[in-house]
Amino acid sequence: MVRNVVVLGSTGSIGRQALEVIEANPDRFRVVGLAAGGSHLELLAEQVQRFQPALVGLPVEPSAAADARALDVLKQRPVVMGPGANEALAAMDEAGVVLNAITGAAGLLATLAALKAGKTLALANKESLVIGGTLVTEAAAPGQLVAVDSEHSAIAQALRSGRVGEARKVILTASGGPFRGLTRAQLADVTPEQAMHHPTWNMGRVITINSATLVNKGLELLEASLLYGVALDDIEVVVHPQSVVHSGVEFNDGATILQASPPDMKLPIGLALAWPERLAGVARPCDWRAGATWTFEPLDEEAFPAVNLARRAGLAGGTAPAVFNAANEVAVDAFCAGEIGFLRITDVIAAVLDEHLTHSSVSSLTVDAVMGADAWARQAGHRLVSRLQ
Ligand code: NDP
Repeated sequence: MVRNVVVLGSTGSIGRQALEVIEANPDRFRVVGLAAGGSHLELLAEQVQRFQPALVGLPVEPSAAADARALDVLKQRPVVMGPGANEALAAMDEAGVVLNAITGAAGLLATLAALKAGKTLALANKESLVIGGTLVTEAAAPGQLVAVDSEHSAIAQALRSGRVGEARKVILTASGGPFRGLTRAQLADVTPEQAMHHPTWNMGRVITINSATLVNKGLELLEASLLYGVALDDIEVVVHPQSVVHSGVEFNDGATILQASPPDMKLPIGLALAWPERLAGVARPCDWRAGATWTFEPLDEEAFPAVNLARRAGLAGGTAPAVFNAANEVAVDAFCAGEIGFLRITDVIAAVLDEHLTHSSVSSLTVDAVMGADAWARQAGHRLVSRLQ
């Protein structure tokens, strides 16, 4: 049966790859909705022409300077503009699967809207799960939330090899990013250009910087715990520079099941869209005749404190993960703008998180509490960045 797919964040790295997967499998998928943030209007217009979706979403009203030709193309289809556009697309009647490939905390309301509307949610936007926490997991029926992240897709595949209660540990692999092996002192002067050169993956700006700081692995630690109900202390982060082993599960008899494939997001995207089925031929397998060496090493937690910071936020719970994420988004922008150095990214997160944990306590998690903590952490992050400049 053909699945009707809404792609939120269609102009981004995941969004574009998802559209390629969909286009290559017309017997399996049809695009019914496309939304993006509006900074690549021309590309969105091209996608609209190519896929002729039933609905287009643009959460930000285009500025007077926006490309008029692209806007004309968009308006040939029904368009929802302004705040609420993502949520409208996530809940549209025609949709079966919603791929949330928005970047950052901006994806939260769309995640909740898709789950509430009963859609299968293929979730690339890990930030919405991390900051929404139990708000998201409790809104999801069993099997409704499917991970797109390659690590979490690998964990889901590994979990298929055991019964409930037999899993003992999650093994979360990390490439180590472009600065693997550098000491804290050596990291002081690295530039945004160097941080943007990921050794194995080609991704959007924020996740690429997050991979260099290992904040991405911190977010993934929290994501794995929420998705699979694993205690944070039962998740082991292991550095595996080749990015061929994408993560796995250790079972109670001592067996570890890992998933391996060359680094290519089309595999987890295809599996998430077709879940629980596999999408034949979506990606290239390992070439076993060529020979390969896979290495695994522990994480240098002194040079890369982000995973421990995320663990701290996760153990504190409540709105602490939202604060961790928002402080990071501010610090990443400041680093990319040349306002602060690389090491200051995790320093800003640590300081904002400390302040939050000292001064506030939230008993019950609500969307307003998450948004409030997000806004507070952004202000605190900006204050800190201007002091550091
Ligand atoms: P990109 O920066 O490449 O793309 C982000 C997309 O989100 C763009 O289409 C952008 O539109 C859109 N967008 C931004 N803000 C909004 C908004 N408010 N409403 C709707 N759309 C919006 O990011 P990636 O594709 O790399 O990452 C997307 C998500 O997937 C992130 O959460 C990331 O952590 C996760 N992920 C990414 C992987 C990868 O390989 N890239 C791997 C695993 C997870 P526009 O630019 O047109 O304004």
